[in-house]
Amino acid sequence: MNMEMEMQFLLTPENESFARVCAAAFAARLDPTMEEIADIKTALSEAISNAYLHAYGEKSGLLILRAGLCERTLIYEIEDRGIGIRSIEEAMQPFFTTSKNAARSGMGFTLMQAFMDEVEVISEPEKGTKVILRKVISH
Ligand code: ATP
Ligand code: MG
Repeated sequence: MNMEMEMQFLLTPENESFARVCAAAFAARLDPTMEEIADIKTALSEAISNAYLHAYGEKSGLLILRAGLCERTLIYEIEDRGIGIRSIEEAMQPFFTTSKNAARSGMGFTLMQAFMDEVEVISEPEKGTKVILRKVISH
């Protein structure tokens, strides 16, 4: 893996969209289609909003975004230092949510899987969560 950039954000609603735009801008060098850019934005948005909504409870916390390339595969890491995920397998099931808010449908990980080629989650309770997303950009 060849990560080329790392950015750190305080998780606020403004920085949520800023981080997503930074991720999409990194992809520009591979000249992706509009559809590929939309896919990346959707997946990154889900990963970043998960950190914002779930990782730190009521408090705001740190988001680390890394991006890299391996030939035509884009690689993103979205990392937080929050509460972590007890069962990754369960969390990744469609419609699974720990949120009591009716607006949460539990489809975030499912959307990431639909729009990227690979979704990997590394998490430890009380330590934090790292989501690794990979997508091959067509020529
Ligand atoms: P939706 O994304 O549809 O609004 P959701 O966020 O609950 O709802 P997912 O994104 O699929 O659904 O996440 C499933 C569950 O995984 C969450 O409810 C939460 O319990 C847990 N989770 C996801 N990301 C994190 C994270 N960064 N830190 C802690 N828990 C997380
Ligand atoms: Mg979510």
